[in-house]
Amino acid sequence: MINADQCVHCGLCLTACPTYEATGLEVESPRGRLVLLAQWAENPAERDASTATWLDDCLDCRACESVCPAHVPTGHLVEQWRAEADPADVDRRLMPWLKLLIGSPFGLNWLRKLGRWSQIPAARAFMKWTAPQFATPAVALMDGLLDYTPGPLSRHRLRSDADDGGVLLFVGCVMDAIYAETNVHTAALLRLAGQPVYVPIQQRCCGALHLHAGRRDEARQWAQRNIETYEKSKAHAIVVNAAGCGTTLKEYPQLFLHDSAWRERAVRFSEAVQDVLVVLQNHPLPDLPVRHERITIHDACHHVHAQQIFEAPRALLSRAGYQIEEMADSTRCCGSAGVYNLTHAEMSQKLLQNKLHNIPDGIETVAAANPGCMLQIQAGAVHFGRTLRVRHPVDLAYQAYQDQGYWSTGGPHGGQLA
Ligand code: SF4
Ligand code: SF4
Repeated sequence: MINADQCVHCGLCLTACPTYEATGLEVESPRGRLVLLAQWAENPAERDASTATWLDDCLDCRACESVCPAHVPTGHLVEQWRAEADPADVDRRLMPWLKLLIGSPFGLNWLRKLGRWSQIPAARAFMKWTAPQFATPAVALMDGLLDYTPGPLSRHRLRSDADDGGVLLFVGCVMDAIYAETNVHTAALLRLAGQPVYVPIQQRCCGALHLHAGRRDEARQWAQRNIETYEKSKAHAIVVNAAGCGTTLKEYPQLFLHDSAWRERAVRFSEAVQDVLVVLQNHPLPDLPVRHERITIHDACHHVHAQQIFEAPRALLSRAGYQIEEMADSTRCCGSAGVYNLTHAEMSQKLLQNKLHNIPDGIETVAAANPGCMLQIQAGAVHFGRTLRVRHPVDLAYQAYQDQGYWSTGGPHGGQLA
């Protein structure tokens, strides 16, 4: 049941909201959406297409929740509305593709292949022909991979140190299929920090993309599989490197509000979830000499707004020797937001353009700790003619330690990659 009554209409959230900033419309603001949700809850029969559009334009970025004095969970409420909304009100045309590609290693292998094929002109034309409604933004997004070829799934490449302790590495879906190297680097840094790593093959999608699309039942099924996998292990923590996955894993209890047995298990699971950047803040790596390279940081919404993670990437990258130049509005959404960049291409592009505009002149490296943001900003750089490489903070840190001889055969520090 949707309850938007906590809002006191103070308006403090308005300037935090990217869709309000882009349109200037009250109905595209958190406060406006809460009014619409309240009306909707009162008169569910009086469905109206414009109201649905304004609600569905929400990115679920949670920026409004960060500034709200009344702690109104607007992003959650819109997510809940999406789950309960009439199918005609929410764009769910991507769901068959999500079902096919996201979740099982079989589907992820196809996602990885699509990522590779999208770089071949004839294959791009074929993709546009088979799925015309999403192909243009999807193929455009794949431009983010022009300098990067996805390798084999990380879950098949990573070895476990032990299953009787250590940390369970959650490899994710897009991270596993597209950015497998980031998972390999995450395992290497965790080991360097003294944390043995366990990578269970049975782990599944966190369910974030399904939740974004209002498919709570499917997200719940994935959650149950992941909870069972964790319970069968002896890991003392579940470590995740994708901001979106981390938020979803930490919020599993909300998927089981009406099932006390599963809720209890979900609470235990969520309490064990930790972001890798926070783990590396609590178990710091050695300080490295200052590098000449200046970088900037994009703060993923599901890090900064949903998990209040802001200092951790800065701590890791400073320790690794990078000079950080802050970008304006680093905590503003880049327009990726799950599958939003495919279903709401126009709004997504506006936000992306603002993000690129805010990257300081002369900076050629952007750190971003979410696969959706990495792909989105990298693709934007290609479209808007900006020389940039977008990398996860873990990738940049790995590179810095490698440059100092860590992991190199016969180097001063030696060691294993994965
Ligand atoms: S959602 Fe929060 S910040 Fe926004 S108007 Fe309501 S009470 Fe104020
Ligand atoms: S979640 Fe983001 S897009 Fe949605 S209302 Fe809040 S600030 Fe606006």
